Amino acid sequence: MKFNELGLKESILSAITEMGYESPTPIQQQSIPYLLDNQGDLIGLASTGTGKTAAFGLPLLNQIETDSKNTQGLVICPTRELCIQISRDLVAYSKNIRGLSVVPVYGGTDIVKQIRQIERGAQIIVATPGRLLDLINRKKIRLGEVEAVILDEADEMLNMGFKEDIDSILEKTPDYKNVWLFSATMPKEVARIAKNYMEDPFEITVGGKNETNKNIEHHYYVVKERDRFQALKSVIDFNPNIYGLIFCRTRRDTAAVADKLMAGGYNAEPLHGDLSQAQRDRVMQKFRTKTLQILVATDVAARGIDVDDITHVIHYQLPEDVENYTHRSGRTARAGKKGTSIALINTKEGRKIKSIERIIKSQFDLKKVPSSSQIVETQLMSMISGITEAEVDASRIEKYMPMLMEKLEDYSKEDLIKRFVATEFNKFLSYYENSRDLNANERSGKNDRDDYGSRKRGGRDRDRRDRNDSNKQRFFVGLGRKDGFNHGALLRLLCDNTGVSKGDIGKIDILDSFSFFDADKKETETILRKMQGVDFEGNVMNVEKTKNRDENKGGNSGGNKKSYARRSGGGDRSKRNDGNRSSRRRSYRN
Ligand code: AMP
Repeated sequence: MKFNELGLKESILSAITEMGYESPTPIQQQSIPYLLDNQGDLIGLASTGTGKTAAFGLPLLNQIETDSKNTQGLVICPTRELCIQISRDLVAYSKNIRGLSVVPVYGGTDIVKQIRQIERGAQIIVATPGRLLDLINRKKIRLGEVEAVILDEADEMLNMGFKEDIDSILEKTPDYKNVWLFSATMPKEVARIAKNYMEDPFEITVGGKNETNKNIEHHYYVVKERDRFQALKSVIDFNPNIYGLIFCRTRRDTAAVADKLMAGGYNAEPLHGDLSQAQRDRVMQKFRTKTLQILVATDVAARGIDVDDITHVIHYQLPEDVENYTHRSGRTARAGKKGTSIALINTKEGRKIKSIERIIKSQFDLKKVPSSSQIVETQLMSMISGITEAEVDASRIEKYMPMLMEKLEDYSKEDLIKRFVATEFNKFLSYYENSRDLNANERSGKNDRDDYGSRKRGGRDRDRRDRNDSNKQRFFVGLGRKDGFNHGALLRLLCDNTGVSKGDIGKIDILDSFSFFDADKKETETILRKMQGVDFEGNVMNVEKTKNRDENKGGNSGGNKKSYARRSGGGDRSKRNDGNRSSRRRSYRN
């Protein structure tokens, strides 16, 4: 099938031809004709990299009335990076349409500039939920004429706790609008949006629901916990041309793994929430342009990374939620290319692999951590290929040749090769000379409690475990339901601001005026330090330790509720932030 058979305007066809698109991807083949011919809602289930942006972007551009400056299309996506990427693509697709304007709006950047752009007229707005809601509330965006609302990576948005924001936004759009929802997975929350805001949607599935891209090979390596980093290095060294993304669970691990790789001479850098936006932009720019070979990232920071040609996704640790495996591995094998997703697991994590296999409906291959001789051989051959394939510009070297020939005339070819390899390779050879076999055997894992299956099994068992867990500290937060606070917001603020992983956070109780949560004791100081003063919708957060249950003779699981209730009732529970609204959402990393 060709693009010109789909019914798109000539101005769009010419732009995509110039971009080198020849034929529509499977999701485009299904969505474009449907959206051009029908007024209705649509659900597209497809992982990243399948051509989703054009799947909704081309029909959206096709229907924009350029005579009007009103906002007619609204694209909502989870992250700033994705927002920029989508706008860039829409601008490229519409470069031959006169008078069409696409404006991206996202948090963490000058809102005034964005308002000015919107005021000049924006037929399409691409936005992250927090900033969009802010602009709607300031009455800077009018949604009365919106014909199509696109929710991209809906599952990610809900994962990030944007449920309420999305509800509020959708409620402010006209009833007659169409909703086009795209998601890689279909958890209950996404189904709820479909149920509440869509009418008899047309459904397109590329691959099965929650399935990963068929072009991805899934491998796993079993190593002892203490050998994880060594194994990572072996995997990287065994793939000399890797252009890879390594996922860690926490910011701390991300920084540590990247530091160790950099110290070992690898072209690697970290991407996590402790970096400033400018630092993150710089790292992403280096990675996108392939100046950087290896990016080590947290799940949150890596959301919205849409970089083509990533050869390997490495799960230094498996993700907290099994669904995140699909998101992570979907960063490779984009646009019809092949890719490898590699999980490093310890001897107790075998059951996690089984859980993931069930969900992604693909099998993992158990691989052996390559031996030192395999690695050395691969590296040598890669270096030699680099030499044989190098382009030689004789004219530039010519003048040095007599000098070089004279200097090297006493050496045989074999001698020269040995010396060459030794100079390039000595450090590498001695590192692997002393290395041992890193492969370990999986344990049966019968009593493993940390596999995804048991974690998912009912909240009750988990609550009970958490309550009795002496490794947990209980915290008080001076915000509750009345402040619009909820589980998702608390989790997001904690993960974004402290780098603590979701798995380290236990039971959460959101009450009317205040809340409690449990977290690993080892994170206590970090949480207290980093959560103080964090802003939630104009409220300054106030986080305190509750007394431990054992300190709290006969204490109840909700912590010291009464005394906190009294304190919060006094009205000083959290000072209202009277600053202007632009400061309100500064804690939301869109
Ligand atoms: P997306 O899933 O929209 O982020 O697209 C993934 C990548 O595939 C991007 O680099 C797009 O530019 C590219 N792409 C999308 N559709 C096509 C197509 N029909 N032909 C070639 N490349 C495409």
